Amino acid sequence: MQNSTQNSELKDREDVAETRVSFGASSASALFYALNHNKIRDEELWGLGNRIRVCSERENHWIGDELHNTETGELYAGNGNLWSCGSKLCPSCVAKASKRSRKELELSLKNQKLLTGEMYQHITLTIPNPSLSLIQTRAVIDRIWTLFRKRDYFKSKVKGGSKSEEFTLTENGYHYHYHLLCVTRFLNYTEFRREWSECIKIAFREFNLPCEIKTEDGLAMVRIDPVSSSVNGLKGVIPEVCKYITKSDSWEKLPQKDLIEVASIKRFWRMFEIFGSFRVQRNANVVLESPNVFITYLLTKLIVEVLKYIQTGEPITILDTKQISDGECSTEVEDLPDKVPKRHREIPWRKYILENGLESYFEKLAEQVEKTRYARKCFLSLKYKYAMFHTLDGVSFSFEQL
Ligand SMILES: [Zn+2]
Repeated sequence: MQNSTQNSELKDREDVAETRVSFGASSASALFYALNHNKIRDEELWGLGNRIRVCSERENHWIGDELHNTETGELYAGNGNLWSCGSKLCPSCVAKASKRSRKELELSLKNQKLLTGEMYQHITLTIPNPSLSLIQTRAVIDRIWTLFRKRDYFKSKVKGGSKSEEFTLTENGYHYHYHLLCVTRFLNYTEFRREWSECIKIAFREFNLPCEIKTEDGLAMVRIDPVSSSVNGLKGVIPEVCKYITKSDSWEKLPQKDLIEVASIKRFWRMFEIFGSFRVQRNANVVLESPNVFITYLLTKLIVEVLKYIQTGEPITILDTKQISDGECSTEVEDLPDKVPKRHREIPWRKYILENGLESYFEKLAEQVEKTRYARKCFLSLKYKYAMFHTLDGVSFSFEQL
């Protein structure tokens, strides 16, 4: 193992963690500032701000050296947060979600088989800016997408794909766009833009919005870039199509009323979606949720294996029984989800605040965070027995110290 490579890798992880901590803290303070400034006393929003703040505490972020890849044995440095607030305004939690999307997409891509005349394309879809708030703009583009997907044209040309949403804030308002990675038949550029533009016009009419597409030919801007079906070609495009959301630091730049509006969303929309031929595996992964993570794992694995059998005829192997029959739990630990399992029937935090007030919630939160951080440290140490960990506030932990 080359020490210099290792050191620079570790340094990279530290830098990533530092950036997340500082972005997270500024996201929380931007929200607190907006709430104060607008005299908003909504306890849920203050609760949310605090969750993001706690998630961005230095003691909540770990850096690990000499973690091992369970398949290849390769060593690497890693970082992450111990307790997760799960907010879309939190850079650490958004990064986690983005990583999940990437994994999901990689899995879908593995299952694709291109037929004659089919190809991968990276498509960027844009709309004219409707000069509305972020959430309203999003509702408009979502409607356009629904119309577009139902078209015979779309159905005949696009076999499947992934869609992610991105927006940037410009002087002229939100510039909202979609990134698609699709398996398609040959696409005529003008025809494709005409179909997309027609959907834009219909949706704008439905929302009573004036629709002016300021291009020479009056058709919306669309980019279609062919992607090589080689492993490297696909790998290269994945980060681009899984960005998940605009850079988290731009929450600070959001107008206060929009920030409050976004913070008020109880169930954030999915920013990443998989459709058509890309779907098969994902369904299997989200079908099950049991209070016992190990049972969930077994059931999920069973479904995945059955699906694989249906598709490829490969024999079913549910799990390596050899390793659990002798009471060893290493397989179990290795394969559990990377999350501390939640206790069953825990009241959702918003409901808790509503019923018990903010003061009581802060106490509960502190207790919960402490427990989760401890459990997660144990989990990491057990999963990576030879790794050395420390949190950003300088406290180290490892298997040996357990
Ligand atoms: Zn978070």
